[in-house]
Amino acid sequence: MSINLPRGTQDILPGQVEKWQAIEGKAREICKKYLYREIRTPIFEHTELFLRSVGETTDIVQKEMYTFTDRGNRSLTLRPEGTASTVRSYVEHKMFGDAQQPVKLYYVGPMFRYERPQAGRYRQFVQFGIEALGSADPAIDAEVISLAMTLYKEMGLNKLKLVVNSLGDKESRSAHREALVNHFKPRINEFCSDCQNRIEKNPLRILDCKQDRNHELMSSAPAIIDYLNDYSREYFEKLQKYLTDMDVSYVVDPNLVRGLDYYNHTAFEIMSVSEGFGAITTLCGGGRYNGLVEEMGGPETPGIGFALSIERFIAALEAEKVDMALNESVDCYLISLGDAAKDYTVKLLHGLRSHGLKAERDYLDRKLKAQFKAAERLQAKFVAVLGDNELNNGVINLKDQATGEQREVQLNQFIETLKSLK
Ligand code: ATP
Ligand code: MG
Repeated sequence: MSINLPRGTQDILPGQVEKWQAIEGKAREICKKYLYREIRTPIFEHTELFLRSVGETTDIVQKEMYTFTDRGNRSLTLRPEGTASTVRSYVEHKMFGDAQQPVKLYYVGPMFRYERPQAGRYRQFVQFGIEALGSADPAIDAEVISLAMTLYKEMGLNKLKLVVNSLGDKESRSAHREALVNHFKPRINEFCSDCQNRIEKNPLRILDCKQDRNHELMSSAPAIIDYLNDYSREYFEKLQKYLTDMDVSYVVDPNLVRGLDYYNHTAFEIMSVSEGFGAITTLCGGGRYNGLVEEMGGPETPGIGFALSIERFIAALEAEKVDMALNESVDCYLISLGDAAKDYTVKLLHGLRSHGLKAERDYLDRKLKAQFKAAERLQAKFVAVLGDNELNNGVINLKDQATGEQREVQLNQFIETLKSLK
C-alpha cells in the first residue's frame, strides 16, 4: 500500500509553486523597500514559549498545538505562529539595544496547527509576517498595515476590505472588561463552554467566538471604542488619519478583537470580498502588542505586526482570477542530429547557460519531430538545430519560433548572436 500525505497538508508541485515564489519574492522585495529584515527562527520551540506569549485561553494553545516530548524529556511544540519566536529571539539577542530602532523584522515559513482541515485551513501552512518593535508611534501602525495592503495590491488583488479597531490600553481595557462581564454574565449559560471559561479569564475574546457569533448579546455588547481613554482615542484617530493620508481605505469594526491575549490599541484584519471566495475570508490579521516583550523577559517595549498565509493569498488570487503571468518561456532549445552533434550539445548548452540564457536540450534520444514538439511545449523563443554536417562546417541552424525565420550562424558566434536577438 502506498503512503499518502498527512491530513491537512499539501504538496506544492511545479506549476503551482511558481505562485508561491512570486508572492514570497514580492514580499521580500517590499520588505526591502520598507527596511524590514528577515529573521529565521527554529520550527520548534519550548512549549512554554507559546503558553506564555500566545496565551492559555486562546484556541491555538487550547486545541491546536503540535506538542511532543523529545528524547531528552523536554516539551517542545511545532510553532503555530511567528510572533512568539520573533519576540523570544528579540529578547534573547537583546535587539532592544541595537543602534537601529525600531527593530523591523519579517519572516516567511511553515506554521503548524491541529485544525479541522477545510478550504483555506491547513495543518501546515506558510505565513509571511512582519514585526516592528520599539516604537509606539501610530505612524508605524499605519506603515505595518500599508505594507500588507501594498503586497496584496501589487500582486493584483483589488477586492479587499481592511477592518481596523482599537483595543485601547490597559486602563481602557479594564473598564471595558467590566462592562463585558456585566453584559454577558447573567446569560452566560446560553453560550458555549469556551465562552463560559472566557467570561472569567478573558471576556473580550467572547466577541471572537465562532460558535456564538450570532447570539443576540453579541451585537449589543459594549464596544471598546466607547471605553477608550483620551490617549487611546487620540492614538486611534492618528492611525486613521495616517491611513487616509496614504489612500488606504478602511472601515472601523468595534467588534474586531484578535486572538492573542496581549493585543492592545490597533487591531486589524484584511478580508477578501471577492464573490468567488469561500467561507473563510480573512487573509491577514495583525495588531499591537505592547507588553509582550516584557512578558518574555525583556524591557518594556511596544510592538506591532501582522501575519498572513500564502495559502489564503493564493485562494484570493484565484477567486479574483488574477493572471499571474507565470509562463516563463525558454530562450533556446537545442536540437541535435547524429552522435557527434549530440555530444557537442553538452558543451554548447553549458555555454548558453553560463551566458545567462535559459536553455534546454533533448535527453531521451527523440526523433527530430519529437524534439521540435518538446521545444514548442517549453515555448522556446529559438530552436537551434545542429547536425553532424553543420558541426563539421562550424555552423548551426537557428530558427526564430515566432516568425519562422531561419538563418545559419557560425558556431563560434552562436551565443553572441542569440544574446543579441534576445
Ligand atoms: P482564523 O480565524 O481563520 O482561524 P486566526 O485568527 O487563527 O485565523 P492568525 O493566527 O491571526 O489566524 O493568523 C494570521 C493569518 O494566517 C490568518 O489571517 C490566515 O490568513 C492565516 N491562517 C491562520 N490559520 C491558518 C490555517 N490553518 N491555514 C491557512 N492559513 C491560516
Ligand atoms: Mg485560527
